[in-house]
Amino acid sequence: MPMYEFQCPNCGVVTTELCRMGENGESLLCSACGLTGLMKQISGFASLGLSGGSGGGNCSAGCSGNCASCH
Ligand SMILES: [Zn+2]
Repeated sequence: MPMYEFQCPNCGVVTTELCRMGENGESLLCSACGLTGLMKQISGFASLGLSGGSGGGNCSAGCSGNCASCH
């Protein structure tokens, strides 16, 4: 299951939860103040995991992510 970060709109505490795809945080409780209804965060960590293999982030040779063709 993917991990998502949810931020409490009341106190700002971020909670990391393992949850199903499509979870929007409405049913999650803030661990700090107990408020229900957390805001889903779009985290760099999560998107890195999803896009792994298609990034080519540290290759400057313009190979569009397929470094096997330029090294
Ligand atoms: Zn809170």
